[in-house]
Amino acid sequence: MSFSIETKCLHLEEDSQNNDGQPACRENCNHYGSISFPIYQTATYAHPGVGKSTGFDYSRLQNPTREQLEKIVCQLEGGTDAFALSSGMAAITLLMELFKPGDHLIVDSDLYGGTIRLFDNVSSKNGIQFTRANCSGDDVESIITPATKAIYVETPTNPMMNVTDIAAMAKIAHAHKLLLIVDNTFMSPYFQNPLALGADVVVHSGTKFLAGHNDTLAGFIITKNSEINERLRFLIKTTGSGLAPFDSWLVLRGIKTLGIRMEKAQSNADKIARWLKTQKVVTKVIYPGLEEHPGHKIMQGQSRGFGSMVTFRLSSTEKALSILEKVRLIKYAESLGGVETLITYPTTQTHADVPEELRLKNGITPETLRLSVGIENVEDLIADLKQAL
Ligand SMILES: *Cc1c(COP(=O)(O)O)cnc(C)c1O
Repeated sequence: MSFSIETKCLHLEEDSQNNDGQPACRENCNHYGSISFPIYQTATYAHPGVGKSTGFDYSRLQNPTREQLEKIVCQLEGGTDAFALSSGMAAITLLMELFKPGDHLIVDSDLYGGTIRLFDNVSSKNGIQFTRANCSGDDVESIITPATKAIYVETPTNPMMNVTDIAAMAKIAHAHKLLLIVDNTFMSPYFQNPLALGADVVVHSGTKFLAGHNDTLAGFIITKNSEINERLRFLIKTTGSGLAPFDSWLVLRGIKTLGIRMEKAQSNADKIARWLKTQKVVTKVIYPGLEEHPGHKIMQGQSRGFGSMVTFRLSSTEKALSILEKVRLIKYAESLGGVETLITYPTTQTHADVPEELRLKNGITPETLRLSVGIENVEDLIADLKQAL
């Protein structure tokens, strides 16, 4: 049976396969019919005999709960394997282990601040070289060198919401035998599937929309390249940053409602973006769902939605700071993608470690705020913003 994206959040297609005349969902029957996948809180597994294995040996290598989560995420992104890591940064750090000293990567200049910090302070020290480019506008092809191994983008970017045409970028990457890596955190697999558009590797901060409740950290890598899959299995086993069983279960549970959360949050974000545009103290609203957004058309072609992240600028720094002080229902906090609406000050929070010159060049001015719109009643959210503005 082939499922639509909403159903894929809850059920594995492979469980419903019925080749031998047996009832469907044999997988669940193995767990006493438990509808909720069990938490296998174990570090190790007894072997049935010498040279025999249940398929599980030690939880650093694999754990049934983590494996179930990896299967669900793999199915959602249309990969051939997925890896659940202890955070988004653990996923990106593991991914960097695919490269060796001297390798060169072209990376978007507007990325999550922690990713820039990793590249600048850890990966560079390990001999990997980076060139920043505005991947939604610059001529990326002209900066490819013989040492270039990959192009790394987010689309839309955090927080400026720049949109890269994934299929066009994949074409450039493959013409030069490079990998295209896409951080798909902002869209989640519910709205966008980069592998289907030609990307080679997808990464996620599972902490955000996938887990969805601001209560756990997680990260994912998904690919459909068997050589990379094999190397990543070796790396996860060797470096030990796989997601713990209980956290895996929390993310599994979160993903069950991914579809309805994404739809509701997006509908709220669209209304808030349009309302913000009518406010005198707001000088700019950046939301790809707005027709005037430069990436609007590209996203209509490559995504099933525009998401729920809204970046906006105020008339002054003082105004921006006073909004952070005055919001009540909306919480002044880092992170995004959860059911609660959060407001962030990228200058001192998510992007504090990005060099100031780069920050300003990317448009992250001190008047800029970022909203991660949640699933509350939209009138309540607008009322809170109204009193804060
Ligand atoms: C949060 C985030 C990360 C890092 O993920 P953690 O789970 O916080 O480690 C990476 N990329 C993007 C786009 C993010 O928003």
